[in-house]
Amino acid sequence: MQVWDLGGQDRLRTSWATYFRGTHAAIVVIDSTDRARISIMKDELFRLLQHGDLEHAVVLVFANKQDLKEAMSPAEITDALSLHSIKNHDWHIQACCALTGDGLYDGLGWIAQREVSSMISPQNGRSWCHRDTRSHHSRGRPFRPRRCRLPPPSLLSVPCIILERSDGIANLWRHRSYDCLSLHLPKQFCQLPHHPFPSHFPTYPSKSDFLDYLHGYAARFAIMPLFRCAATEARFDATDLLWRVGAVRRRPEGEEESAEFVSPWLVVATGENAEPVVPEMKGMEAFKGEMMHSSEFRNGADYAGKRVLVVGCGNSGMEMCVDLCKHAAAPFLSVRSGAHVLPREMLGISTFGLAMKLVKWLPVRLVDKILLLLARIAIGDTGKYGLKRPKIGPLELKNATGKTPVLDVGAFPLIKNGSINVVPEVESLTRNGAKFADGEMAFDSVIFATGYRSNVPLWLKASSLSLSLSCVPRVKTSLNTHLVTRYQYWLYII
Ligand SMILES: Cc1cc2nc3c(=O)[nH]c(=O)nc-3n(C[C@H](O)[C@H](O)[C@H](O)COP(=O)(O)OP(=O)(O)OC[C@H]3O[C@@H](n4cnc5c(N)ncnc54)[C@H](O)[C@@H]3O)c2cc1C
Repeated sequence: MQVWDLGGQDRLRTSWATYFRGTHAAIVVIDSTDRARISIMKDELFRLLQHGDLEHAVVLVFANKQDLKEAMSPAEITDALSLHSIKNHDWHIQACCALTGDGLYDGLGWIAQREVSSMISPQNGRSWCHRDTRSHHSRGRPFRPRRCRLPPPSLLSVPCIILERSDGIANLWRHRSYDCLSLHLPKQFCQLPHHPFPSHFPTYPSKSDFLDYLHGYAARFAIMPLFRCAATEARFDATDLLWRVGAVRRRPEGEEESAEFVSPWLVVATGENAEPVVPEMKGMEAFKGEMMHSSEFRNGADYAGKRVLVVGCGNSGMEMCVDLCKHAAAPFLSVRSGAHVLPREMLGISTFGLAMKLVKWLPVRLVDKILLLLARIAIGDTGKYGLKRPKIGPLELKNATGKTPVLDVGAFPLIKNGSINVVPEVESLTRNGAKFADGEMAFDSVIFATGYRSNVPLWLKASSLSLSLSCVPRVKTSLNTHLVTRYQYWLYII
């Protein structure tokens, strides 16, 4: 993508046309506080749009400085620029604040989406199409498929559009994880294709390292999802052999618009951690302290001197307890059915790496036995401290139920020395705390480290899946090769 920054003095403006040929989008940045010069902007905009080389260009208006009190609203700017009178160009006005970056990606995402939607599948002539069923700002020419010369949207030139319900990439890591979180697995096991972690990153990158990495990845491959756009329904249309994906897009101003996306291909990537799980527990309404899910916990700073009940002894629960100890709180870890606690490293290498090496040669059950023996030597008998091991081994359990073993980053020594108290399953919450089989205890706060679940069953119609599998040709090679060499269809990534 090439971007030209046009501006400057009046006498330079005649030279602007040099840059118009092959332009897909014109971006107009408005200082929303500058009422005096808005009419000049309007004249310039309309002069610009008369140019023949911009015939097919879409127009994005950034209403900048929306953080300032005196800023005109996008609706006022729409009127002042007479945007509704633009009939031959798709246009869109986007509230933004260049200082914080708010709204910038939304605007650019709109351009990307308009451009992608104006491309056509070379093999079968079917178009990728996005239809606004309710739009507040965008008017203009009807959808007209055409070829255009965009840079390859992915390494393998498979055009795609990504729907993302949050306002940016890596939502889970930005907004729903605690500050002390580091990758549980060594970095080489967590990197994405074609973009290794920088060598100066630690073996277990921190949350902020990982976020830097993901942002770098998105920038490198020009990944621009359609943000604030949640898939609400996806079904396979067996007549047209197309997926129909219903979505709701939330604008920064709070309005919602619905849209339908159609495509022969759909990739579901909404993750296993889409929705926090909080168990129904008797007495919840009576408890007068603070209650939250682990996705809301940031750090233990506000908990000094407090008694905190952490429900669930997975990786999150254990790590939050460590952080609570660091901040002089008193954590109590409620354990229902036990857990496999393994040291993060054994024999000088990561436990995960060791397990991966062993399973190449040995049956899973035998690998489990080896891991448990080594863990016993390294950290001792966890059962003695209230963390009974499940009957089946850690890898077999993961395969059978998806339950991940705990890779200990310091919780177990704190359990051993009594800084973290292990308590049994909660029977019910009470006004001041919680009731257990052997009595009641007082707590100031309860944090549910009870995991997440996928939301796919809520929006992906199950019958569609079997339909689509029987209707579309089977993927024989790897997904990407298949897509590129045989079909060059469009992909959706949600
Ligand atoms: C505390 C914690 C620690 C973890 N540590 C590790 C680790 O060390 N190593 C590791 O490999 N993994 C770890 N994981 C697992 C982690 O979730 C995954 O590695 C990774 O985030 C999964 O990526 P993903 O893209 O599949 O899902 P996600 O990162 O969850 O991304 C899915 C995206 O889909 C969006 N979405 C959901 N529903 C919709 C919808 N209906 N429409 C549109 N968009 C939607 C979400 O907003 C989200 O941005 C950890 C998870 C947690 C919670």
